[in-house]
Order: sequence, then structure tokens, then C-alpha cells
Amino acid sequence: MDRYVYDFAEGGRDRADLLGGKGANLAEMVRMGLPVPPGFTVTTEACRVFLATGAPPPELDQEIAEHLERLERAAGRRLGQVDDPLLLSVRSGARFSMPGMMETILDIGLNDYAVLGLAKTPARERFAWDSYRRLVQMFGTTVMGVDGALFEDVLTRIEHQHHVVDDAHLDTCDLIRIVETYKDIIRERTGEDFPQDPHEQLRRAVLAVFGSWNAERARVYRRREHIPDDLGTAVNIQTMVFGNRGADSGSGVAFTRDPATGRPGVYGDYLPDAQGEDVVSGTRDAVPLQELERLDPASYEKLCGHLQRLEEHYRDLCDIEFTIEQGRLWMLQTRVGKRTAQAAFGIAGQLVDEGLISLDEALERVSGEGLARLMFPSFDTSDAEEPLTRGVPASPGAAVGAAVFDSAEAGRRAAAGERVVLVRPETTPDDLPGMVAAQAVLTSRGGKTSHAAVVARGMGKVCVCGAEGLVVDPRGRRCTAGGVTVEEGTVLSVDGTEGRVYLGEVPLVDSVVMRYFEGGGRLPEEAGEEDVEQVVRDVHRLMERADAVRRLEVRANADTPEDAARARRFGARGIGLCRTEHMFLGERRGYVETMILAAGDAEREAALAELLPLQRRDFVGILEAMDGLPVTIRLLDPPLHEFLPDAVELAVRVAREEAVGREPDARDTALLAAVTRMHEENPMLGLRGVRLGLVVPGLVAMQVRAVAEAVVERVRAGGSPRAQIMVPLVGAAAELHLVRDEVERVLAQVSEESGVAVDCPVGTMIELPRAALTAGRIARDADFFSFGTNDLTQTTWGFSRDDVEAAFFPAYLEKGVFETSPFETIDRDGVGRLVELAVAEGRAARPDLEVGVCGEHGGDPESVRFFHGAGLDYVSCSPFRLPVARLEAGRAALRGVSGSDTR
Ligand code: PEP
Ligand code: MG
Repeated sequence: MDRYVYDFAEGGRDRADLLGGKGANLAEMVRMGLPVPPGFTVTTEACRVFLATGAPPPELDQEIAEHLERLERAAGRRLGQVDDPLLLSVRSGARFSMPGMMETILDIGLNDYAVLGLAKTPARERFAWDSYRRLVQMFGTTVMGVDGALFEDVLTRIEHQHHVVDDAHLDTCDLIRIVETYKDIIRERTGEDFPQDPHEQLRRAVLAVFGSWNAERARVYRRREHIPDDLGTAVNIQTMVFGNRGADSGSGVAFTRDPATGRPGVYGDYLPDAQGEDVVSGTRDAVPLQELERLDPASYEKLCGHLQRLEEHYRDLCDIEFTIEQGRLWMLQTRVGKRTAQAAFGIAGQLVDEGLISLDEALERVSGEGLARLMFPSFDTSDAEEPLTRGVPASPGAAVGAAVFDSAEAGRRAAAGERVVLVRPETTPDDLPGMVAAQAVLTSRGGKTSHAAVVARGMGKVCVCGAEGLVVDPRGRRCTAGGVTVEEGTVLSVDGTEGRVYLGEVPLVDSVVMRYFEGGGRLPEEAGEEDVEQVVRDVHRLMERADAVRRLEVRANADTPEDAARARRFGARGIGLCRTEHMFLGERRGYVETMILAAGDAEREAALAELLPLQRRDFVGILEAMDGLPVTIRLLDPPLHEFLPDAVELAVRVAREEAVGREPDARDTALLAAVTRMHEENPMLGLRGVRLGLVVPGLVAMQVRAVAEAVVERVRAGGSPRAQIMVPLVGAAAELHLVRDEVERVLAQVSEESGVAVDCPVGTMIELPRAALTAGRIARDADFFSFGTNDLTQTTWGFSRDDVEAAFFPAYLEKGVFETSPFETIDRDGVGRLVELAVAEGRAARPDLEVGVCGEHGGDPESVRFFHGAGLDYVSCSPFRLPVARLEAGRAALRGVSGSDTR
């Protein structure tokens, strides 16, 4: 790394790793010739040095000084000069957007003298002192660590004295008084004075931004968004422009399309006579951007032109921040904007129609996570009462939960398993943990671009903001609307699509997207525009494309004919895992008990013979529902004692009889003995899987016979059954070899008896590290592998999957041991390597080996991308996750990568 500071003119959007997203995009706008206040960027690398060593790189001061000098020369003004000083903003900007999570310090360069220079004329006095007030406040809290509430209290007290509601109504004398009081507070709290040297201000501000990378709220946000902790932030140092210089000035935010619905147009908020932070924080109510057309038509026209250029240049929805200083428009930031899932699908389709992107690019712009969100239900409001209140529909979806009024309470209740709605006047980054914990966020202030709206959309949380009829009283832990008081704990239903809030629980209805999949994923032929909702058309178009380009096949985990039928409607091309253990429960339990208790072969065989026709019937139904497609049936996997009654219950029953001097039921006594005998300390690592098949005589034969006879029955009925037999929990080639012999013997028997050739491929699950490590040998006896990544994760990490998620995963996530549970998203570095090794060695031994995955990871978007890269033939997942897997398999094929940036 040769240097740590880059002028805006030197960067570009392809350098976001080094310059952060904000810095790279500022540079891009400079290249495009858009009006950007001049400045430079301190790299993320400098921040990484700071984070690693606790000090900035030694060269940094000098580099900043050189760039500053150039800036001063170009501006014809110097930092700290007494007459019309140059002022700077210092803003964070990481590789991935973390809205409001890190620090910003504005008006750097003001001190007791420069403020007089900035004022220059009486007309500018108020503006100058307002700027100084902002600097002392921001610097005091952010850099010097003073509690921000102390400053706020002073401001509120003086506002009250003057009977005004916000600082815009305070005059110069008030502001001078406030600045002096702030400086006193700083001295009292920190033992040092507010620094008067502008260069010291700048240096300390840069370090404070670096340090804010590790602020609690930033860490929480990164965890939530899966942003690595070691990226660091860049720092953008930029010439200040002022939106707070009177009626011909102002600040705003704008989107090139509606980020909630995707509809084209100019969307945003504008706040006259204000600095940017006032808009984003939602502390003052902004006006719709369209209002700017009336207030300042020339700037509005320019802004619209810039927005259009940006959208064409980035070929995507952009959001921007801008400031107008006395009629002159400045662009302060742009980025590809966050959007809701519905908008993501909508915008992708529109950009294709407008010829800006290809269909394949459109597919890359959406995600499985987003599709999953569209499959959630919404409210059925047909019978609902009038809404309690209405607000801005800031992030769509439907959520029900108990009203809570602060972040801590949200966290407490959510940890206890309760669903909550966080209700605040507005949110700040400090509310982040509460937003994470809540199902929905409701605020009384702020628009579509307020903090609450932006963050909720980013998280996919339901959000209604700016509900003006709502008065929130966080201290009293209540809110009121239309004369109704909502105390903490009252259930609210929040409709983020319509911007409505209802008292009590409103029933939910399926999403139109879910209905589309349930209907087989087809659009009705010759359907008119009005017959099918736009979001369904948008989804359909990209699903078709994903299916056309994907290499990975998609199968379902399904154990019943109903699930199999649904899976087919949702696009499954077969069953990748049919677990047979559910088929041994209910009334069949008795036969399993008899089989376990059997005194001899005859008794056991009789019990198995009772089970045989029942199993056959199960398989016939499933093979019929999946006719023509592969159905992978797994032999019994769980420990047998799971099918026996509970030991304590049995012991109590036996003891009770004995206590009253009666002979206990003989079956109870025998069962109790069996349960005691079969008790295992670690059943997950005990007598289960293939081990059962090898030690319980007749079990494998019965199951295989049931499969084979079901195949025969389906063939005779004119079907095309394609059963495959899968052996679980194999760790050694010899285990599979022994079972396979038996399977083939039974298949041959049934073929001979029936005259129908039953030819089922026989394969194994790879779900133990030893199986992965010896995959080459195991493959000699396997027609296929299916990775059981649930067990493979459990055994690779040594995690008991039934215990750890509750016991210590929250702490592990908190401490950053992993970013997501390895049971949710495949652990590429550990479990993933075993998968890759087993694929390579298995295929080397047997080139036609079919390889798939049937653990939960088969339906997880990020894991699907990994499996594509690892060269698997298919993923198998629960029916509801099939659309997500199909979409992600398509996206993965376009990227053609296994492990690169999949964000
Ligand atoms: C697995 O281990 O990944 C698997 C699919 O099997 P089960 O979850 O049934 O143990
Ligand atoms: Mg398993």
C-alpha cells in the first residue's frame, strides 16, 4: 500500500474496498462532472492499521496535510483563517453501507475567532453561530465522549424558555449562550477545553471515525448484515456546503425510484434551511421532494437531471443526499439504494424493459432472501376495525407484536420468545438492538428516508413511520392515537405495505407470490394486466430465467404424498430425502415395540411383516406423486429407543402398581427393561443410521422389500417409479458394502417374485467426517452421495445440534466466533472443505457418481451458492424453500463462482 489518502478526482466506484462506498461513489460523481464539494478520502487501509495497532499509520498526518493544502489552495481559503474560513465535514464510509452507524462531524475548522470570520456580515451571524453550536455538540459527543443528552438538555431548556419547538427559531444571542454552555460542559466532563486548533480538530475527528467502527451499534449492525468485522471504514474529508443559510438553502435525500414499491419517479424528502443530518435523523418533518419544484424550480430541474444521469450510469436505483446552498445545488453522496424485496423484483424487471440491463443482470439483482420475504403472508383486513393510526408505508409486510417503547424492553421480551413492535417518536442508531429484536418498527415522525425507514428496509423488517396521529411517550411507556391509549404490552398489527396500524391481532392471508407457487408457478394464460399482480409477474419472469440458466437440479425433502405433490408444484424435480422415521410413529409404534421386544426371530419377523404393507403404502403414494422423477428413500435413521415410551413414565407406572401390591403389566415391565437396556448417553452418536441396519435383523430387508414392492405396484399401474435407496450415517466403506449386499439380495428376490425388474440405485449419505475423508472408497459401493450437512456440521464441530443453538450460540454470534449459525449457512472453511474433498474423491473413484445435499443448507441462499461452486448435481430442501433454491441456483450459475463475494 503506497499511500493512505486519495483525492476524490483519483478514485472511482470500482475502488470501494479501499475508499469505502461513499468515497468511491463521490469519486465517481466527480468523474461524471456532477457538482461535488471538493475533498479527499482516507483509506480503509489506514483504519485497519489503526484498528490493529491502536494508532494511525505514521505517514497519515503528513498525507492529510498535503491534501488539505491543495484543497485550501483551490478554494482560496484556509482552515481556521479568521476571515471566511474553509470548513470541513468528516464522514465515515465503509465498503458496505452502514447507515448512521458510525460518526460524522460537520463544521470542522470553527473556533472562537473563525466563527466571527464566518459570520462576516450581520446577516450571516446566526448561521455562523448555529454552525459553531453544531460543531461543539458533535465534537463534544463523538470525539470527546460527553453524554449527548447533556447538550440536548441545554438546547431543550432554552427552546422552552423561548416557547419554540426547534432550534431553527433560536436567535444569535441564544446560540452564543448555548455554545458557551456547551464548552463549559465539555470542560467539566473531560477536564479539557474544546480544542481551538482546527488541525487538531481534524486529526481527532478522523481518529474518532476510525474508532466508531467498533462502536456497539456498528458491531450489532455488522453482525446482523454479515459484514466482516475487519474491513474498517474510510474517512471522507470534504469542503462544507451549507443547507442552513436561509430560505434559498436546504438539504434533502432522493431516490431515483420508490424504494418501497419500485415505482419509477422521483422520491425523497426535502428540508428547507437545514443541514443533511436534520433530514436523515427525522427530528424535523421534511416536505416531499416534489415541493422543491415550487420552492426552487431551477435546482429541482438540475437535481432531476442528475438523478436520471446517475440511474443511467449505475443502471440501478440510486439514492442520493444533496444540499442547496443559496440556490446552488451540491451532490453529497450517492449509492445504489437499498430497497424492499418487492421493489428489487420490480426494479429489476423495469430496468430490463428500459433496456438498461439484461435479464441475467436482473437475476443477479434479486436474491433468495428477498423472494422468501415475498412469500410471507399479509393482513386480511376485510373484517378489521378502522386502523388505530396511519403513517408512511416505509417497509412492507405484516407483523403482529406487543408494543414496547425502548430498545432494552424489546430485547428483553424478544429474548423471552415474545414478538414485539418497537414504537418510538423516531429512531436513532442507538435503537438498533431493539429494531433487530422487533417484528416491526412504528414511529410518529420522519418520512420514507428517516433512519427508521432506511434501517428497517435494509433488515427486511416491517416499518410504518411518520404516523402523525400518534403521540409516543417513551418515558410513560405508552402512546396514544385518536383518543386510544396503548400501554406497553398491548398487541398491535403493523401493515408496512399500506402504512396502517391496528389494535389487536389482525388475521393473516397468504402472499400472492405464495399463491402463485401453490398454483404451480404458472401465470394464467392470456391473463390481463389487472388479473395478475405486478409482483407475481416480476417474480415469474425471473424464476423462468433462473430455471433456464441453473445447472443445479432442485429436489425436495418430503415424507408424505401431500408434501411430494406440493414440492412438485413448487418446482421440485424429485425427492432428495424421504425420511422414513415418521412412518414408524402413531399406531405403528406398537409393531416397532414388538419388534424390539421380540423374544425370537419368529416374533420379530411377525412384527416386521405387519409393518411391511403399511410402509409399502407410504411409498406407493410418494412414488405416485413424484412419478417419473427420482425419489430417494432413506433407510431408518434414528435410535430405536426413540420409538419406545418415555422411561420415567414407564417407571412410574410400574412402581405405582408395585406400591399397591399389584403385578405390573408384563408389557410395561418388558418395555421398561428394554428402555433401560437401550438407554444411550449420546444417542446422536449411538446405535442409529446404518448401525441399526447391521444389528437389527430383518429391518433393512423389510424396508427395501416395501420400496421394491411399491415400485412393482406402480409399474403395474402404468407409472414410472424411480426409487433410490439411501443408507444413513455411513462412516466406513465396509458398512455400506454389507448393507448394499442385503439391499441387492432383496431387490433381486422381489424382481424374481414379481417378474418386474426392480432396479433401484443404492447410495449413501455423507454425514460423518470419516465418510467424507474416505469418500473414494465408499464411492465404490455407492451410486450416489447425498451430503447430510446437518449431521456433518454436528460431527465436524462436535456440536450437539439439539443443545447448542439454545445453550451458547447467542454468545458465539455475539463474540463473532461465527457470523451465522453453521447449522443455517454452510461453514465453508470446515464442513465445506469436507464436502469439496468428498466430491472430488468420490467422483475420481466413480465418475458417474450423482452428488447432492439434503441437509437444511440445501434451502439456504448462501449455501446454495456454495453447493453450485462445489459441483453438486442437486440441492434438496423443504418444499417451501424450493423457489428460493431455484432462484439462487440460477444466480449462482450466472456468477459461476463458489466462494467469492456473494453478498
Ligand atoms: C442431515 O444430517 O443433514 C440429514 C439430512 O439427516 P437428518 O437431519 O435427518 O439427520
Ligand atoms: Mg443426518
